[in-house]
Amino acid sequence: MSAYLQIDNICKHFGQFTALKNISLDIHKGEFICFLGPSGCGKTTLLRAIAGMDIASSGRITQDGKDTTFLAPEKRDFGIVFQSYALFPNLTVSENIALGLRNQGKSHRAANDIVTHWLELVGLPNSGHKFPSQLSGGQQQRIALARALALSPGLLLLDEPLSALDAKVRTHLRDEICRLQRQLGITTIMVTHDQEEALAMADRIVVMNHGVIEQVGTPEEIYQNPASRFVAEFVGSMNFIDASVVSNEKIRIGETLLPTPENTLQRGQRIELGLRPEDIHFTENNMKSDSSIPVQVEDLEFQGTYVRANCRLQNCNPAKNIKVDVPIRELRRLAIQEGHYLFVNITKQYTHIFHAQ
Ligand code: ATP
Repeated sequence: MSAYLQIDNICKHFGQFTALKNISLDIHKGEFICFLGPSGCGKTTLLRAIAGMDIASSGRITQDGKDTTFLAPEKRDFGIVFQSYALFPNLTVSENIALGLRNQGKSHRAANDIVTHWLELVGLPNSGHKFPSQLSGGQQQRIALARALALSPGLLLLDEPLSALDAKVRTHLRDEICRLQRQLGITTIMVTHDQEEALAMADRIVVMNHGVIEQVGTPEEIYQNPASRFVAEFVGSMNFIDASVVSNEKIRIGETLLPTPENTLQRGQRIELGLRPEDIHFTENNMKSDSSIPVQVEDLEFQGTYVRANCRLQNCNPAKNIKVDVPIRELRRLAIQEGHYLFVNITKQYTHIFHAQ
């Protein structure tokens, strides 16, 4: 199946600065893609190149089989929603949505019918006569979404559409966007720096850093098999622990020898182990085992369904702390308290290996 949107070796320079370095990516029809990465990594620049708001310095963009690399934004087939809603304050909600439809040559009546349909779809059927200032931020963003979708674009671009909203409205609108996207089957790209949002919404996540793509994958792939230390650190929480390879069978963390998580490692090699807090477990009855290390629980942070235990490794000098997530029931069963000296198991199967930098 050929891709609906093909991004082929795109570079973007601003003077001496390179914001995008050889970006290649295929996006299929109906996919929900998130561009995820820290501030300044190039997410918005890539979105703007797709929209034609910035022209790429080199490379090619093809949408639905058509080369759009140098096409003006108005000649491209997309709808866009910005963080700032960008509604015209002096036009009513209906007029805001109808504007693009009228520009497309739709009759007043046809435009009105489409506006009514979209106001219903975004859950604001009686708001057509209001002005944007009479609506909440979440409602204005729904109108911005209706305005973008009313033109039936082939591609929906969302530039941090939820970041100006408070937490509750944000979650609600997140669900609404996902529902609409699935219902319409519209190919969608959303820029976000919020990993939770990307994990919850995307079919595939594109993790970016310093103008390059670090990894492309489903939320599960990105979370469970991070391709680099950067991805491991940026998506979810991860503990990084220094270790050295002692033999084919053993690695050393501080003064403790543990079974190697991978027997292809070279003796003498320095590695970093990556362990998610939820993948580290306190041992039963505080038993020492072949794959355990000693810790002291320094503090317990209540997180709702689990507690995050901040633990100091007892076998390392200089001192090293790790985070261990314990389900509340488990915490009570094992009677874990601040100050306790305990053992945690490092399970091979959940250990990620990174080569020391
Ligand atoms: P944020 O989440 O903060 O919006 P981002 O990942 O979207 O970040 P971009 O806005 O794409 O980042 O910017 C990528 C880099 O390119 C940044 O270092 C930025 O300063 C630079 N940049 C973007 N636009 C321009 C411009 N018009 N002129 C010069 N530099 C620019």
